[in-house]
Amino acid sequence: MPNSHPDVLVIGAGPAGISAAWELSRKGKKVLVVEKESQVGGLAKTMRFEEASGVYFTDNGPHRFISKQQYLTDMVGDLLGEHWTKVPRLTRFFVGDKFYFYPVRLGNVLKQIGPIKAVHFFVDYLKEHICSRISPREMKSFEDFVVARFGRTLAEFNMINYTEKIWGIPAGEISIDWAQQRIAGMSLWATIKKMIFKKSGPKSLTSAFYYPDRGAGLIYETMADEVIKNGGEILLSSEPVSFSCAGKIVKEVKLKRKDGELFSVSPSAVVSSVPVTQCIGLFDPPPPAEVLSAAKNLKFRSQVYLFLTINKEKVTDDNWVYFPDKNIPFGRICEPKNFSRIMSPEGKTSLFIEFFCFEGDEIWNASKAMLFDMAIEWLEKLKFLKREEVINVYYLKQLYAYPVYDLNYKNHVKKALSFLDSFENYYAIGRPGRFRYTNQDHSIEMGLLAAKSILEGSRMDIDSVGGGKEYYEQAEKK
Ligand SMILES: Cc1cc2nc3c(=O)[nH]c(=O)nc-3n(C[C@H](O)[C@H](O)[C@H](O)COP(=O)(O)OP(=O)(O)OC[C@H]3O[C@@H](n4cnc5c(N)ncnc54)[C@H](O)[C@@H]3O)c2cc1C
Repeated sequence: MPNSHPDVLVIGAGPAGISAAWELSRKGKKVLVVEKESQVGGLAKTMRFEEASGVYFTDNGPHRFISKQQYLTDMVGDLLGEHWTKVPRLTRFFVGDKFYFYPVRLGNVLKQIGPIKAVHFFVDYLKEHICSRISPREMKSFEDFVVARFGRTLAEFNMINYTEKIWGIPAGEISIDWAQQRIAGMSLWATIKKMIFKKSGPKSLTSAFYYPDRGAGLIYETMADEVIKNGGEILLSSEPVSFSCAGKIVKEVKLKRKDGELFSVSPSAVVSSVPVTQCIGLFDPPPPAEVLSAAKNLKFRSQVYLFLTINKEKVTDDNWVYFPDKNIPFGRICEPKNFSRIMSPEGKTSLFIEFFCFEGDEIWNASKAMLFDMAIEWLEKLKFLKREEVINVYYLKQLYAYPVYDLNYKNHVKKALSFLDSFENYYAIGRPGRFRYTNQDHSIEMGLLAAKSILEGSRMDIDSVGGGKEYYEQAEKK
């Protein structure tokens, strides 16, 4: 039975939770980590598949590591040592029967679209630019943002369609926050300047990235090993059932283990990355009706994946290939071997295929055979591989993959998080816990900030992560 009085209970062992546990355990706190799944790493975990043809690894969707915060890159580099490798980026997208490089290369684009369409893109962009100067429009949605920055024709060519595929709602109903978070510095003009003058461009044009040689999950597995070495405990396949509160303090957390056994712990502090939509319902006494209703109005996008092991040396040279066209059922493919050689056995490779969906919709309910038939038809047509080269097909499902930033999400998030943040010893962190579209680096930083808040007894602003402020750059190395 685990320690019933840990200093800190960490719920969720994704990048945010395990980073919090790691930092707290390094500083002498007794932590208990409770994770629902059977392994650590959350959305950034790496899975292992052993079969007669050898051992394959894949992330849950490919995970590059980039961060504006040098201290985070250095910190993970120190943790992984020789396993921390730098990978050149090769990404393409497929639109209207042609492949394009991303970041776009002037020669490649002109060759593929031809001069007439290129002029059309540019004139359309100028028209938007001039109109927005003469009579500025209110910018509320992703669509407003990309049309203003790129012109409608280009926005529809490869941005609006892909974005709608990810989110499953029209681009006009997606909050501008998403564009501002992901592609803030980008416009057609910035892209052209970058191509011509080779100036360093905005973040999403990064041409190389860090990657652990045995998958992104290695970061979190290494942290988990250190948590245990430091005297912490990690309970897998376990979850909270209720948070009993006295006033604004979480006094006791009831937990359920894999075998169904219930037990209670009374930690001094709780750090949680349980999806905000779920954890609100665990509070006892329950929150006010308006908080419950706010949480109910928040939606997460889910994903279904196919992982193919392939009897072939290589499928592509790409890290990722994106498919914005809506008539292609999947959104993105990646070849793990192009991130690290050891992701596939000698002479073989693998492909990870991502489908975007909502829980319960047609794609979510499609069988493995149906999805494979849909996918292989396109993969053969695009000459990536032949059906007979596929050794095995694995079928995976992921809830809570993307917090949906619709036009009203902000008010709902604010209400739900003000309730959670009002508890003195409860820290909601991470992508699902704060309903924030984070990358790994942001989630790690949220975990570190929660740990720092507990260690120093003063709550830090976890939502400022990703806003460019260098909050934690003073973090000491071991
Ligand atoms: C397809 C895809 C590709 C991505 N690519 C990249 C990339 O290239 N680079 C990058 O930096 N980021 C990428 N990301 C984002 C990255 O995965 C996330 O930012 C990161 O994993 C978020 O970490 P987190 O700890 O905040 O949340 P999660 O990873 O969601 O972790 C939350 C953890 O809490 C656990 N949990 C949930 N509920 C409970 C419960 N009730 N009880 C116990 N445990 C619970 C979950 O099982 C999970 O382990 C990608 C994401 C996806 C979906």
